[in-house]
Amino acid sequence: MPIIRVALNVPVDTLFDYQADDASDRDIGLRACVPFGNKRATGIIIAVGTETAVPIEKLKSAHGIFREIAPLAPVLLALFQFCSQYYHHPLGMVVMNSLPALLRNNKSIKLNHTVQHPYSLTELGRQITAEHIPSRHRIARRLLVAFQASVLTFHQIKQISPRAPKLLPEWLQSGWIVERPLELTTVTKTHKPLLTVEQAGAVAAIAAGLGRFDVWLLHGVTGSGKTEIYLRLIELALAQSKQTLVLIPEINLTPQLETVFRARFPDILLANLHSGRNDTERLTGWLKAQRGEAKIILGTRLAVFTPLPDLGLVIVDEEHDGSFKQQDGLRYSARDLAIFRARQMAIPVVLGSATPSLESYFNAINGRYQHIRLASRAMQNAALPTVHCIDTRIHKSRDGLTEPLMKALDQCLENKQQSLVFINRRGYAPVLLCKSCGWTAICQRCSSRLVVHLRDQKLSCHHCGHQERFPRACPQCGNQDIEPFGHGTQRVEDTLVKHFPSARILRIDRDSTRRKNAWHDILHAIHTQQVDILVGTQLLAKGHDFPNLSLVGILNADSSLYSTDFRASERLFAQLMQVAGRAGRANIPGHVMIQTEFPDHSLYQALQRHDYDALAQTLLAERKTAGFPPYVYQALLRAEAHDIRAVLDFLDQAKQLAQSLETVELFDPVPAHMVRLKGLERGHVLVQSASRKHLQAFLTGWHAKLMTLPGQKVRWVLDVDPLEF
Ligand code: ADP
Ligand code: ZN
Ligand code: ZN
Repeated sequence: MPIIRVALNVPVDTLFDYQADDASDRDIGLRACVPFGNKRATGIIIAVGTETAVPIEKLKSAHGIFREIAPLAPVLLALFQFCSQYYHHPLGMVVMNSLPALLRNNKSIKLNHTVQHPYSLTELGRQITAEHIPSRHRIARRLLVAFQASVLTFHQIKQISPRAPKLLPEWLQSGWIVERPLELTTVTKTHKPLLTVEQAGAVAAIAAGLGRFDVWLLHGVTGSGKTEIYLRLIELALAQSKQTLVLIPEINLTPQLETVFRARFPDILLANLHSGRNDTERLTGWLKAQRGEAKIILGTRLAVFTPLPDLGLVIVDEEHDGSFKQQDGLRYSARDLAIFRARQMAIPVVLGSATPSLESYFNAINGRYQHIRLASRAMQNAALPTVHCIDTRIHKSRDGLTEPLMKALDQCLENKQQSLVFINRRGYAPVLLCKSCGWTAICQRCSSRLVVHLRDQKLSCHHCGHQERFPRACPQCGNQDIEPFGHGTQRVEDTLVKHFPSARILRIDRDSTRRKNAWHDILHAIHTQQVDILVGTQLLAKGHDFPNLSLVGILNADSSLYSTDFRASERLFAQLMQVAGRAGRANIPGHVMIQTEFPDHSLYQALQRHDYDALAQTLLAERKTAGFPPYVYQALLRAEAHDIRAVLDFLDQAKQLAQSLETVELFDPVPAHMVRLKGLERGHVLVQSASRKHLQAFLTGWHAKLMTLPGQKVRWVLDVDPLEF
């Protein structure tokens, strides 16, 4: 009697056995619906056998096996296994959370419910004439004629003849037709620019390594043309009929990149799996990837779990970006899993960045990764911007802006060039303060201050979303003289409006981009020169290309210089390099002005010289002395409950259970940097080791013991390679 072993989405480290009369080895990787408790649950079949440790009278029968889509391939199951072991997360939860939502429920998939785009002739297809088709194939000839006249939907094809759809797979296979969204059927293929010497060198080096595992750190200054390098490599992968997985950070860049890719490869099926897709779109893209039809898979974090039978190349753009790490549930790093996938398939993975993470940089200078540098901008005449510090101890700021910056903005307006004022804090002011007793408005659910949103007359918590009305008087002393303190984007916007009444000013932050199509409108306004001054947060910093932007002003960056978070400097530097990189990308030279109290700080000094290496070396030396990553590997046992006492008690108990190892250092329980979040209090125990292997061995043993602790009021999770504390 066949028995299937199923991974279910439940928080225990076991698989579940069921009897399934019709099961065979071929069913491994398929979904099965099974009884679980008094409910139904759907999981993935991991093994099929005849033996089980479950007593026969307790063994239940599966409700059924879903066979409408192909099983998950063994390499994908191996990825899930690795992920489960490395992040110490139950296999069933890893598998089920990575699947498109529609595959998680207890129903079979109706394939005609997936999104279908119309079909159109490819370049090759347009060269086909009726003579190429034998005259007895009347339907094929009719279909070709119809295609020559227009783009056709599946429905229209069926109307030509009920048998016409049967021709589609073969025509797709031969590259005569392609399925693509209607709005893209008219894209004109863009021509390829001549590569710069640096670009050509990078392409040649990586191309020579196609078909072999290597991690390539593509370390190129902003504007060095990394995208073009990706395009050339994808072209080479396509020539071998291979798939390329392109991972990008959780930002609004996907539409832009998608357009670039589609324009270069109009006849290639591209699946876009970014986080904004709905369930059906996600499933459709996933299935096309699984069938090998989608050749380019563009997506955010979760796309790293897509089935890719013909994977030939992996690209992780902006590899340093924190959004590649999932911050709840399964806390995986999509960048690191991308590297694992490349190793599995023996193919190259390209990590692109102007400011690599220190981990990747460290691996590159130690020779574990291949290091490719691009030192100059790709476009002729586009030089890196000049960077100046404005000493705010000398130049006092009024309403957040100093005289020299104001003058520079004025000059820019006169020259009819765009400028950008960067302040990484949205809202009007970060603090509401009572001048007489010192009271500040704080969130009841988080250990954070409420941010003043003057326009809506509201106070808002940027951590939990809590909002409240603006108080009329100080709740503590009754004083009516309560004032916003400090600056946010809205306040800077107001100041600029006052100073430059004729300038067209546009604010870009999470509040101003919430509306649907907001991004589209904003980018359009910028590109058509309907904006003079942009005010914005880091939303603006990444990846965007604004050819007429010549000045960037940076406010309030100092607060990250002396943070308790050891990664704060690395992040600040990356962010400022990115913002600075927006200036002078085309023909006009760019200038960056930083308002700071610490103009001599090594971080600003490095920024002025565009010297990533200098800062990286300084930071690495600090990390080495302090014993921080990349010199050690870390993991956190995180716990949360309604009361920090319970959290710390639990963590104490957990620490007792740990086996002490000489090579693994275990710290005392401490409250999290931000203790209260969304009404829960949080703490952690840090574990670290110079050996990843020893750390992993320790965690495996510890995790097993933690699982035996009786159910508590405390929720806990292991976070391997944590980024936040
Ligand atoms: P990065 O991602 O490295 O910051 P991009 O890929 O955005 O840089 O390229 C910056 C600009 O340079 C873009 O406008 C791009 O079209 C242009 N570009 C890239 N390669 C070339 C080239 N070989 N010749 C001319 N322009 C190029
Ligand atoms: Zn008061
Ligand atoms: Zn809050």
